[in-house]
Amino acid sequence: MRRVYLDHSATTPVDPEVASVMMTYYTEKYGNPSSVHGFGREAKQALEQARTQVAELIGANPKEITFTSGGTEADNLAILGTAEALRTKGKHIITSCIEHHAVLETCEHLEKNGFDLTVIPVDEEGVISVDAVQKAIRPDTILITVMHANNEVGSIQPIAEIGKLAKEHGIVFHVDAVQSLGKIPVNVDEMNVDLLTVSSHKIYGPKGVGALYIRKGVRIVPLVYGGGQERKRRSGTENTPGIIGFGKACELAGQRMAEDAQKQIKLRDKLMNGILDRIEFVKVNGPLGEKRLPNNVNVSIRYVEGESLLLSLDMLGIAASSGSACTSGSLDPSHVLLGMGLIHEIAHGSLRFSLGRQNTEEEIDYVLEQLPKIVERLRMMSPLYDQVVRSNHV
Ligand code: PLP
Repeated sequence: MRRVYLDHSATTPVDPEVASVMMTYYTEKYGNPSSVHGFGREAKQALEQARTQVAELIGANPKEITFTSGGTEADNLAILGTAEALRTKGKHIITSCIEHHAVLETCEHLEKNGFDLTVIPVDEEGVISVDAVQKAIRPDTILITVMHANNEVGSIQPIAEIGKLAKEHGIVFHVDAVQSLGKIPVNVDEMNVDLLTVSSHKIYGPKGVGALYIRKGVRIVPLVYGGGQERKRRSGTENTPGIIGFGKACELAGQRMAEDAQKQIKLRDKLMNGILDRIEFVKVNGPLGEKRLPNNVNVSIRYVEGESLLLSLDMLGIAASSGSACTSGSLDPSHVLLGMGLIHEIAHGSLRFSLGRQNTEEEIDYVLEQLPKIVERLRMMSPLYDQVVRSNHV
């Protein structure tokens, strides 16, 4: 069967170049980077090279990079680590309603444990207002945590402006850049960021590896104690092959970003416009143009269920998503779409396609050929659609 992968925001394949550099560190150069002998030293050297590669992609100093088990752990370390470090200074945290669960649940955990949380709403395009953040700031605000680009609708946030505000008020600013890294430029200085989360498996690196950028001078209390690896910020023997793969993936992302973006914008617009042209009652979710990630298409198709669409596409070998992968399986509509003001019924019929390096025009043509047929078949079974069609014909 033909297979078309359009779920790169959930995860990406490991680039063959990345896999090949990793392999050596499993089978030949398998030393523990903390060991003093030659095996250890060669692993340590490669680990530090990877730290430099990650740092270079975000405009940071390698010493400011702490490797973690992924984006989720980096988000937890940023939020819980700041809350613990600054709890005597204040207990107010600001976040937005479209954050990933790794941020939202962590903030909610703190709220249950005596912190105050303000959740900023977004506009109908899924963009946070800088003004709303400004109004939420209080004398006891210790942390602002917002994402750079949204994983469901691809909306890019005004991070530099929010960062400027945070700086003026002396508030720690954390940004989850898991979805933007490698797709659009990320620079910690230009974005006025103190803490920044990145993850390897969204940029053609291995799963289970990520990093938190911690600006020099910013205080963080660790979550994991032990042997004091990662400058005492994250103990535990490093996942050396994974980290080395992440470093290589960052290097490649830096080289390929402009070309990837240009190609994916073309495919994105072809898919989005093709769906709008071929299917009735479709709404595009998220902003258009520059404020949208190059690889994201998100549409609500009325009078069909997102889950039924997904299953029908899957039977034809097409992989998409009906929300974030981490929450699919749950029947609750996406908190992001609800936050943007969509009603439950419309949010339920939404579909996300996320493009990647290997997608082709021909694959988009295949989706555009199959999707309208699926929608037509599902709508034939929908009593709601039946009512709409009949009322139009009376
Ligand atoms: N933050 C965002 C915006 C994400 O999209 C994801 C994963 O989907 C994460 C955090 C979690 O990253 P990881 O899968 O590396 O734990």
